[in-house]
Amino acid sequence: MPTPILVLNCGSSSVKYQVIDTSDESVWATGLVEKIGLPEGRIKHRTPAGEQIVQAPIPDHQEALRLVVQAFADHGPALDQVVAVGHRTVHGGQRFRETIVIDDEVVAGMTELSGLAPLHNPPVIAGIKAAQAVLTQVPHVAIFDTAFFSTLPPAAYTYAIDKTIAEQFGIRKYGFHGTSHSYVSKRAAEFLGRDLGQLNQIVCHLGNGASISAIQGGRAVDTSMGLTPLPGLVMGTRSGDVDPGIFSYLSRVADMDSAAVFTLLNNQSGVAGLADGTSDFRDLRTKIEAGDAAAELAFDVYIHRLIGYIGAYIAVLGRLDVLVFTAGVGENDQDVRWAACQRLAHLGCRIDPVANQAPNSGPRVISTPDSPVTVLVVPTNEELAMARETVAAIG
Ligand code: ADP
Repeated sequence: MPTPILVLNCGSSSVKYQVIDTSDESVWATGLVEKIGLPEGRIKHRTPAGEQIVQAPIPDHQEALRLVVQAFADHGPALDQVVAVGHRTVHGGQRFRETIVIDDEVVAGMTELSGLAPLHNPPVIAGIKAAQAVLTQVPHVAIFDTAFFSTLPPAAYTYAIDKTIAEQFGIRKYGFHGTSHSYVSKRAAEFLGRDLGQLNQIVCHLGNGASISAIQGGRAVDTSMGLTPLPGLVMGTRSGDVDPGIFSYLSRVADMDSAAVFTLLNNQSGVAGLADGTSDFRDLRTKIEAGDAAAELAFDVYIHRLIGYIGAYIAVLGRLDVLVFTAGVGENDQDVRWAACQRLAHLGCRIDPVANQAPNSGPRVISTPDSPVTVLVVPTNEELAMARETVAAIG
């Protein structure tokens, strides 16, 4: 029986959505609302029959959701077939450790957590309220990016800071991109025909945001993002790990307050900060090929950080069976995979240059037959994972 789920991903200025029938995993519609809060908003609605684009001012998430419902009414599929709505939620804090059906208490709990994710949780809450107002007959479910990492052991999630302050303010490693790490690690085991419970995996989610996780028998044991999605790997515009002393140093020498440093580290750093504003790896490659030294250094810093984490997580796991690359860069950029694995060969990751160049078309092995570690590319599908989670939560 068809079980169509609407999955919603509300950011501060955008809403991404899909209707996925989890009975056969077919996608009935996808869409994107952009530039919410700006004078000229836009909604793109795509079904197997074609694509529609509507330009309109979209002052807030309520109007965005109204336009989404209107797009379904005008161009299909009929939204009354949808059996539930799944909302991507960035921060679940310590309270929300698994996917949950949303009621007033859940919304109140998420609102309390907004201090932990001021950029990410408020638009999700606005999206939930707006969606509940227009889709009143079906359950709404929250899927937390942090939930997969609720299995981290205390030694991995505890920051070595004054424990009274840490406890009072909920300061610890939470981890993000959990839906992707969970989906990809399961998919990797399934693809290899191996028991997830027996595998030690490292998953490199390399998109615009990037994170890496160590997964033992299907349970996350470490990950690179922390209290916020800022630390860890070098990202498109985010710095990843820096010395936290940078906050007081820049406040002294550059008169920058913590909000200004936070903006610097989130929006003007990472690959873009090093390569004169270029955050996309396709453009970075073009610059490197043209001999741009800044772009080359950005690439080197990116790889250096990545292999450092992989090495550390091999130590955490004790034994590595599978190394997986996923997300925009991980799935498509053969140079990143090649550069990283060349330097990990002594740790058992040997990749085949021809297999590594294969186009991105589903899960594939890129290691050599004699490689002690199986290296995979596994395309992520966070929307499908969310739809499945939603079905599981509503029983
Ligand atoms: P997010 O979901 O975090 O926005 P994605 O996983 O979609 O990010 O990854 C987007 C990034 O993937 C782009 O910024 C770009 O750097 C990289 N990317 C996408 N396609 C390619 C490609 N064909 N070759 C190299 N890099 C690519």
